[in-house]
Amino acid sequence: MEDNKDIWVFAEQRNGKIMNVAYEILGAARRLADKKGCKVYAALLGDGVERLSDSLIQHGADKVCIVDNPLLKNYTTSAYTDAIEAVIKNFKPEIFLYGATTIGRDLAPRVASRVHTGLTADCTGLDIDEDGLLLQIRPAFGGNLMATIKCPEKRPQMATVRPGVMEKLPADLARKGDVIRYNVDLDEKNIRTKILNIVREAKHTVNLEEAKIIVSGGRGLKEPEGFKLIEELANLLGGVVGASRAAVDSGWISSDHQVGQTGKTVRPELYIACGISGAIQHLAGMSGSRTIVAINKDPNAPIFKVADYGIVGDLYKVIPILIDEIKNA
Ligand code: FAD
Repeated sequence: MEDNKDIWVFAEQRNGKIMNVAYEILGAARRLADKKGCKVYAALLGDGVERLSDSLIQHGADKVCIVDNPLLKNYTTSAYTDAIEAVIKNFKPEIFLYGATTIGRDLAPRVASRVHTGLTADCTGLDIDEDGLLLQIRPAFGGNLMATIKCPEKRPQMATVRPGVMEKLPADLARKGDVIRYNVDLDEKNIRTKILNIVREAKHTVNLEEAKIIVSGGRGLKEPEGFKLIEELANLLGGVVGASRAAVDSGWISSDHQVGQTGKTVRPELYIACGISGAIQHLAGMSGSRTIVAINKDPNAPIFKVADYGIVGDLYKVIPILIDEIKNA
């Protein structure tokens, strides 16, 4: 285990664009590495992806390990697992972190099984203890407690990290790092899935995790039509629409708008909660927002405890006033 010392981040890219969560985890890895006294590596897999390495260095990586191969152009479980397994066996990371995206959630358990280590899924916090071990923090028992998990024996210690919870470092354009080109022999015959065609979903999906402004509606809207008002405010502010689970469960809006423990974790500049009480499971997904505004008719609603600005009142009276003010500004 003496060999294992550095922190690695899976630099997930899709269509040649690094996913935001990879930058967020790099920010966390940088903080952990500075505490531990080790280096941060980014593992970048794909086909013709070398140009992305500068941006990973600017966001906190000391070294970028590129596995460039036409067979890694599109994600397949077997090719990516083979490549990461080879990287781990060669470089012996102490910690390996992935985003808890659809790809990260598929890849990390496969790799964990291949290299005979553990995996903590969907972490919302990471730290280093006095022995240099990774503390992997995640909600458990329906969000009623936060579990801290350690993996004392096996290496690498592995975790997937929920998008939106870690803070991305601002790009430091002067930052320098190394690029390592690592060749992995992949055999097309071993890739059990073949991608014949990629059909993009025509449906408009909301990208809550990357939004700077979110206006969310909850059960206090009382009816699905209430979301028209939420949408109008969101559009005026250049933001997107979020929702509480109560609104989603009522069938007023689709689940891709849900913010919270079982929805998306968001970290916008501005989060406006309208008719949302502030249940712990909702707060779990939005309390990292920079500025929180709550509109609720109940002055004792828990949302006011996390809000920077609170408006006690009927949202159907308050929001139209806000809309008029913004239009006239
Ligand atoms: P309510 O709690 O009913 O609150 C409605 C609020 O609207 C009240 O505060 C009321 O005062 C206010 N109001 C009513 N009328 C008006 C008006 N006219 N003007 C202004 N204010 C008004 N919830 C999530 O949101 N996201 C999750 O991911 C999530 N995951 C969960 C996971 C588990 C395992 C469990 C057990 C629960 C989860 N929940 C989640 C549900 C959560 O516990 C709450 O039930 C939910 O967040 C409540 O939604 P709400 O605030 O919209 O509704």
